[in-house]
Amino acid sequence: MKFSTKAIHAGQEPDPTTGAIIPPVYQTSTYVQEGLNQHKGFEYARTQNPTRFALEECLAALEGAKYGLCFGSGLAAEGNIMNLLSSGDHVICGDDVYGGTYRLFEKVWKRYGITFTYVDASDASKVKAAIQPNTKMIWIETPTNPLLRLCDIKAIAEVAKAGKQITVVDNTFASPYLQNPIALGADIVVHSVTKYIGGHSDVIGGAVLTSRDDLYETLKFHQNAVGAVPGPWDCWLVLRGVKTLAVRMEAHQKNAMTIAQYLEKHPAVEKVMYPGLPSHPQHALAKAQMNGFGGMVSFVLKGGEESARQFLGSTKLFSLAESLGGVESLVCHPVSMTHGSIPKAERDARGVVDALVRLSVGIEDIDDLVKDLEAGLAKVTVMAGSAK
Ligand SMILES: *Cc1c(COP(=O)(O)O)cnc(C)c1O
Repeated sequence: MKFSTKAIHAGQEPDPTTGAIIPPVYQTSTYVQEGLNQHKGFEYARTQNPTRFALEECLAALEGAKYGLCFGSGLAAEGNIMNLLSSGDHVICGDDVYGGTYRLFEKVWKRYGITFTYVDASDASKVKAAIQPNTKMIWIETPTNPLLRLCDIKAIAEVAKAGKQITVVDNTFASPYLQNPIALGADIVVHSVTKYIGGHSDVIGGAVLTSRDDLYETLKFHQNAVGAVPGPWDCWLVLRGVKTLAVRMEAHQKNAMTIAQYLEKHPAVEKVMYPGLPSHPQHALAKAQMNGFGGMVSFVLKGGEESARQFLGSTKLFSLAESLGGVESLVCHPVSMTHGSIPKAERDARGVVDALVRLSVGIEDIDDLVKDLEAGLAKVTVMAGSAK
């Protein structure tokens, strides 16, 4: 089966009792047992829930993984992966990962004796150089947030295989439609299903996918033992959202490409970051490891922080908000919204500058979106100077 078919059918056989074409919301905490040790494979809903199972099977199919496990949020899914480690273990992590991932590592797991080294993972040799005798895991995100840099998944997975580390890829930004890290050699894929997979900005959830039996056993044990499972309603909402993932991603990236090209020509814009542009330093890698370039576009305005202030809040369709991946367009100012906790000097050094703007391009009509950006950019006074 191809992707769109799997998104609609995998894990979602018609309900055997009624023929309901959509898996029901099994809103139950427990299951009646026929007798001692006689049951239908369902005992207690933290451990087994048919709505959750349907979602887990569907997402595993979409990532080309043998197993899927779902969680109450993307961060709960990440915590589940960290449960694979023990005190004394070391993790190499990309230095441009989701802020919440950095916080989870630095403020939570570090206290339990796990150590972290952050490296520029867009260079696989830097990952290799950071390996220590106790390095158990390599954690990357690609494309990264908000700079949309890429990591070479295949190259990093090879580095890890040599040293026997577990390679984890946060595939949230690409979605399983555009990138399948397991096929490139990664051991574990993690998603915030809150973003493209859910796709409608109405649910928080996470997923962990793997094809390794040994890892799955431990991950599944902790899913139940720690207990950060999603409720059946949330699973049902994600199942409804994911059915249209393929068509949504096509629409997202078509709009994103047009917008990236439009911005690149705009006199108020200094620089556009989008893996689909030939000007992107890793455009060739994007073509090789992704099946498309996604719906996220970042750009730097001319004129610094003042320009960002003039532009942000002056768009009407692009709503000022954190998050991404929904059908509606969002605009975000990383420096004051998602990356504010990083000191300015370090932000600047990484390229997260004051005039950086990140767009999550939705699937509204492209003419309306461009008009909206046009109106917002007209508020940027530096443009008047450069247009003269
Ligand atoms: C949002 C996000 C997360 C965290 O997911 P939640 O569902 O908010 O817990 C992790 N990684 C990336 C790349 C994200 O965008």
